[in-house]
Amino acid sequence: MTDLTSKDSAYWHRLAAGLVPCGELVIDGRALAAVSGETFATRNPATGGLIADVARGTEADVDLAVRAARRSFEAGTWSNMAPVRRKAVLLRLSELIGAHADELAVLDSLDAGKLISDTAGGDVPGSAAILQWYAELIDKSYGEVAPTAVSDLAIVTREPLGVVAAVVPWNYPLEMAIWKVAPALAAGNSVVLKPAEQSPLSGIRLGQLALEAGLPPGVLNVVPGFGHEAGRALGEHPDVDCVVFTGSTSVGKLFLQYAGSSNLKQVWPECGGKSANLVFDDAADLDAAARLTAERMFSCAGQVCSANTRLLVAREIADDFTGAVVAHARALRPGDPLDPATTLGPVVSDDQLQRVLGHIERGRAEASLVLGGNRVAGSGDGYYVEPTVFTDVAADSSLFREEIFGPVLAVTPFDDEEDAVRLANDSDYGLAASVWTDSLARATRVSRRLRVGTVSVNTIDALDVVTPFGGVKQSGFGRDLSAHSLDKYTSLKTTWFAG
Ligand code: NAD
Repeated sequence: MTDLTSKDSAYWHRLAAGLVPCGELVIDGRALAAVSGETFATRNPATGGLIADVARGTEADVDLAVRAARRSFEAGTWSNMAPVRRKAVLLRLSELIGAHADELAVLDSLDAGKLISDTAGGDVPGSAAILQWYAELIDKSYGEVAPTAVSDLAIVTREPLGVVAAVVPWNYPLEMAIWKVAPALAAGNSVVLKPAEQSPLSGIRLGQLALEAGLPPGVLNVVPGFGHEAGRALGEHPDVDCVVFTGSTSVGKLFLQYAGSSNLKQVWPECGGKSANLVFDDAADLDAAARLTAERMFSCAGQVCSANTRLLVAREIADDFTGAVVAHARALRPGDPLDPATTLGPVVSDDQLQRVLGHIERGRAEASLVLGGNRVAGSGDGYYVEPTVFTDVAADSSLFREEIFGPVLAVTPFDDEEDAVRLANDSDYGLAASVWTDSLARATRVSRRLRVGTVSVNTIDALDVVTPFGGVKQSGFGRDLSAHSLDKYTSLKTTWFAG
């Protein structure tokens, strides 16, 4: 685990300056240029500067990767390897992530503008831990014997699906990849990973480290590229058995269409959110609630699917509570993501910057702007947006309804518990929610009525590998993390022995 206290900005910059990131595809155990020979630029959101040119994977590369994955799966080099040996390989990969933790943290910070305190302090050690958790699960998962008549024997086993395509976003580049790759490999599948075009570098490095860990060639292939090219090609490929996707709801819907128009592959979309944070006036620690509200809302510059972007607060305390949140948000320090003292990073790209500023412009006509609203002054060519807070946000406004995926908080007062639950559920999304109250009865009542995948009581966005994560409604379906995620990567086989 990285000791953040001993590593200052100079250390991280030295490391960044010495890195020569690999921008090649990883297919069948080899580093390759794209078949077309084309590349695309990956840029640093903090400066707009070029980091590396990366192979632009398209349909031809996806086809090579899927073929390699299929060959390795059919050969059984991984899928039929004894569970205890598969465990050892994935444990080794987890250790390698730990050994290369600083390098991986810098790659994600440079590529996605993420704070080094988050990547080195959370994402990378978290990824190693998740991989370890699934590795440990491999030789502890049993099948079932069905309660048939004694003359017969029916067993139910979990079989890997075959070729799994993992298409992931840029907000947690390494960690989102690991959320998919770890259980997919643990279940015995072969995988094609497509990182987001904004942040391909740590995914490519993961592919290299997997080979070093002893994963047989072809079992984990990495194809960087654009969504409409490499992503679409995976969605439509007739020999992909399953797509696991994290990203926007609109692209999640596209994957369902790709599957319907090709081979009816399984599709598991983890999509967007507009999570509600319900603060009741009987919450015991309103200071902690205000601090965490600001901290989590503006973490990753607001680009977190489960961010609590709708603050619903009891009308009697709305002004004071909003004031406390604003004070915490005002204290955030935008700056260099490689400086551990920085507390607000940029959004991921110029496109994202323009999208977020567009949402804010629309919001100005809908509600009262009490903080922020602009690009951060003096941030040069970096894509920094001020922490932004709107109050008196109506339920029919775009601020309340649309996922902005930037540092923009919408505050709406409620009159009573009924009103709070109604407002919270008045959303196309259903990923997560938080409830602050000192009443166990209220916490229980309200939690049960919220139509979301995760409710955090007296905290925000509680999440761990031991609990499932995912949404309802247009936040998608299927669950990441925990043993439940194996449902996505396996099919149940019944084998019946007649007596
Ligand atoms: P996105 O949907 O634009 O892209 C996600 C991935 O899909 C990328 O790899 C991209 O290249 C690919 N893609 C884009 N267009 C495609 C197409 N036409 N066909 C096939 N693939 C395509 O999302 P994003 O902007 O990278 O990430 C932000 C979104 O992700 C937000 O909506 C956020 O809520 C969501 N997200 C959800 C979770 C979750 O667990 N529910 C976690 C993180 C992010």
